[in-house]
Amino acid sequence: MRRLRTVADAGPTVCSATRGDGQPCRAAATRSGLCMAHDPALREKAQEARRAGGYNSARAARLGKLVPPRLMAVYDTLELALGQVYRGEIDPRVATAMASLAGAMVRVLTSGELEARVRALEERQPPATNGRRWR
Ligand SMILES: [Zn+2]
Repeated sequence: MRRLRTVADAGPTVCSATRGDGQPCRAAATRSGLCMAHDPALREKAQEARRAGGYNSARAARLGKLVPPRLMAVYDTLELALGQVYRGEIDPRVATAMASLAGAMVRVLTSGELEARVRALEERQPPATNGRRWR
């Protein structure tokens, strides 16, 4: 079976590491000859930054204010899939399907939330009668 062509196939510098499943990594290489995921220097730098800045908790706190709690896990899964596509670990078509389903989930959840907020506003302020709000 012919394997899918990736962006990395076209370029001259492809990561020289081997993936967990024994296949060669096809991600674009940095100057070290390894991709961002496989380069130990870059990985260490990222870990240091996370330790120093409390990256994960800060990010979770920032995201928690923007994303409904039900969608946090979806976000994490999509973020994971982004790296997996980049490293050639999952079929990009799978990721496309995931993104499409996640989009549908977001639409359902946000429309439900909007409706709840409109209802709460309406309950706080009864509708005016005969165009007169005050007597
Ligand atoms: Zn790699």
